[in-house]
Amino acid sequence: MMKLSRNNLLTLAACAAVWLLIVVRIANHEPEYEPREIVAAPSDVQSYARQQLNALQKRSFAEQREFCGVIAENANGTLSTLQVFEGDIASCSYGDAGRVGLNPVATFHTHGGASVKYDDEAPSFQDLQSDIATRLDGYLATPGGRFWRIDWQSQTANLVCGEGCLEQDPNYKPCPAFEPEGQYDIKRLQKRFRETPARC
Ligand SMILES: [Zn+2]
Repeated sequence: MMKLSRNNLLTLAACAAVWLLIVVRIANHEPEYEPREIVAAPSDVQSYARQQLNALQKRSFAEQREFCGVIAENANGTLSTLQVFEGDIASCSYGDAGRVGLNPVATFHTHGGASVKYDDEAPSFQDLQSDIATRLDGYLATPGGRFWRIDWQSQTANLVCGEGCLEQDPNYKPCPAFEPEGQYDIKRLQKRFRETPARC
């Protein structure tokens, strides 16, 4: 049951992310199918996302909720966060965060606090689908302190650094039998989701 409800919430979150993109495109008069040109270096976007996520980890654990946001750049490639949104234990919607003159370059979200109910240490396949649909890379922080990058172009989720490389929830308990691999595509994430044990 919990799995299904998480599934539905994440689908809603994905829909919200798609809707956000439309809003942002209208705000910037951006043609729908032209490739997005990003001025900032990918390594700068990644460091920025890492910093933002690390700063949200403790609150995420304490409040047992996800936080999410969109990183944008101005014409010079200077990065900023449009807005940080509060989600709940298993979902977070980006809402309407578009601003004229700022182009979205990536999304980020935390996975809330450690929970025995959810497979928190890997991205969900909806996370991946949502970033592909919005044509934005996505960054994720897990309760175990893992840092993931979702690459929308190669349609893969890649572990940037493992357990404890970001702030870790003191209640986090590793599940050695279900440790995430270093890379997933949608099919393999779906497989992982189907095979998630009810408990570690
Ligand atoms: Zn997620």
